[in-house]
Amino acid sequence: MRMRNKPWADDFLSSHPNIVDVDLNHQYKMAEWFDKDQPIHIEVGTGMGRFITETAKANPEINYVAIEKDKNVMVRVLEKVKELELDNIKLINQDAKLLKEYFVENEVSRIYLNFSDPWPKTRHAKRRLTYSTFLDIYQHILKDNGQIHFKTDNQKLFEYSLESMSQFGMSFDYINLNLHENEPEDNIRTEYEDKFSTRGFRIYRMEASFKS
Ligand code: SAM
Repeated sequence: MRMRNKPWADDFLSSHPNIVDVDLNHQYKMAEWFDKDQPIHIEVGTGMGRFITETAKANPEINYVAIEKDKNVMVRVLEKVKELELDNIKLINQDAKLLKEYFVENEVSRIYLNFSDPWPKTRHAKRRLTYSTFLDIYQHILKDNGQIHFKTDNQKLFEYSLESMSQFGMSFDYINLNLHENEPEDNIRTEYEDKFSTRGFRIYRMEASFKS
């Protein structure tokens, strides 16, 4: 996702309590940033944040964490958090490869990966958010019965992810090869989901876990 550079992004992000660890000193683990002790769900590669902010609004009994590395995009997430006056969401403006710095082992109940960048070239496979190094990080921070919920319009990334997760020993609890054919009422569409569905692309969805 390309966004115009916003010179004021640093000041805007660092001035708000929903953004954690602006000093990058990883002083606290995630649960310590929240007022309420409740399950933690995270979204990796949040983009502009419609999915996680609307999901957080609908589920006040869950704590949410949005991870987005692009500060110009994260600005959009923070704007939505403020508009909806959410107190059950924190934002990390960092690369997902640093997730272990923020979470203790077995801390997270669910990880959302929505419309992750496909990185179609084989030489870029390591950047895919379902590459084994990322799965290793997710396994570390997820609870034993925790799940990864994955949606994409990209058939090749979907197939790659099924294979990568399967080789990692993960199990699939749910697979849908055409989510919008009979779209569940509680499906919250991301910005990319809306864009690609409107253009006629099929949407793929799966839920996977590390339990065997
Ligand atoms: N999930 C959103 C949606 O469905 O509308 C955004 C999808 S967009 C294609 C992918 C987003 O993931 C981009 O905003 C990108 O900056 C972010 N991203 C990609 N790799 C990342 C990483 N390693 N760590 C954090 N964010 C990442």
